[in-house]
Amino acid sequence: MKNSENQINRRSLLKTLGLGSTAGALGLLAPMAHGSETPFTPVGDGTTPNYAKGMAPVRIKSVKAIATRPRGSNLIVVKVETTEPGLYGLGCATFTQRAAAVVTAIESYMNDFCVGKDVDNIEDMWQSFYVSSYWRNGPVLNNAISGLDQALWDIKGKRANMPVYQLLGGKSRFAIPCYAHAGGRTPEAVADDVQKFIDRGYKHVRIQQGGYGATGADKDQADFKEAGYGYESDNYMNPQIYLRSVPKMFEMVRKQCGEDVELLHDIHERVQPTEAINMINKLEEFRPFFIEDPLSPENKGWWKELRQSTNVPIAMGELFNNINEFLDPMANHYFDYIRCHVSQIGGLTPAMKVARLGEWFGVRTAWHGPGDVSPIGHAAQAHIDLAIWNFGIQEGREFSEEEQAVFPGCPTMKDGYMHVNEGPGYGMDINEKEAAKFPINTRSNWQVRNADGTIIRP
Ligand code: MG
Repeated sequence: MKNSENQINRRSLLKTLGLGSTAGALGLLAPMAHGSETPFTPVGDGTTPNYAKGMAPVRIKSVKAIATRPRGSNLIVVKVETTEPGLYGLGCATFTQRAAAVVTAIESYMNDFCVGKDVDNIEDMWQSFYVSSYWRNGPVLNNAISGLDQALWDIKGKRANMPVYQLLGGKSRFAIPCYAHAGGRTPEAVADDVQKFIDRGYKHVRIQQGGYGATGADKDQADFKEAGYGYESDNYMNPQIYLRSVPKMFEMVRKQCGEDVELLHDIHERVQPTEAINMINKLEEFRPFFIEDPLSPENKGWWKELRQSTNVPIAMGELFNNINEFLDPMANHYFDYIRCHVSQIGGLTPAMKVARLGEWFGVRTAWHGPGDVSPIGHAAQAHIDLAIWNFGIQEGREFSEEEQAVFPGCPTMKDGYMHVNEGPGYGMDINEKEAAKFPINTRSNWQVRNADGTIIRP
């Protein structure tokens, strides 16, 4: 560019910016004196500028999976090491039922893909790994991406010397309200358990009678087991007993524990759509905070009918794989809460997108937070919970001594609120020596059958 054209362009740009002669005083013209074509110094080679004074450009040195099982659930954590000595990030990649497959995806494919890449370009890393396999959007690869994505946010927080929630906009609340899990064999036992959590400061409690998701068993030995059908580890459920027991449980808990506590319940998708709708209608008088996953993903054709049949708030999406699955139900106001497993949808980056989308449709968050989310994953979603405005509720988790030994810096619970470690990134670490004491297994027994042995889908 000739000098005269250059100067005209500079003048018009400064006029547009409204800076005029002040720009010279601020030194914005300085680069021009050295022959640059714009007042802003270009980077040139696409490398992220060196924001942190004294630090060399940071690139990924290695990506590895750490598998551990300190409390009975297989956990997978991704560790991203960088060219900056001592700088690494951690992310949750836990698909507990197929943990070894995620380890293979990370170590056989992700490491090679990532080595040498710029740690700063999180969105680009997410998008590029997502399409790098061409076929995509399954739980194994989504969890692997989550591990990478969350680890890169951890690194960015450490580079900025800030907790991740600061990078997401800072706090919208002082701490994170959580719900506890109450259970028992009878409605009275459930109510007693709820009271224990109320006494400890919890304002929200999820209630399940019987086994997880409520077995509704009417006898110890199911017909299919007596007939020698199915597998030794199969669980038995009688859906009709379950459907009758839940309203009685709600009635007893309200009677014993009063109106102030917020009550939640998970149907776990295990009954037919009309059965779920009929039961939710019976729960309306007990004012549930929300009912979780009334329909399996295969029954999405019933969402509209469900919404039109009841005013009870609905949380959905634990089995969703992709944030695109939320678009239609949000736009149609079918759900009230985003109930998804953050690592399953690909990590913090997509979780922030779906959370922000929910703000425009009056839908709030309720991330999945059980034992098969690693403490790193709990921390990552807790940083989202702190930052977003449309937070709803968080599934709480109190970490055992073993978990805390493997994962120093775990979030803590006090009076029903979760608090994050305020250190840089997620404020967490992993002790690989401790992690190695708890090897993962390859067992998986999530099958539930009804009396004749038919598989019941979650
Ligand atoms: Mg659930």
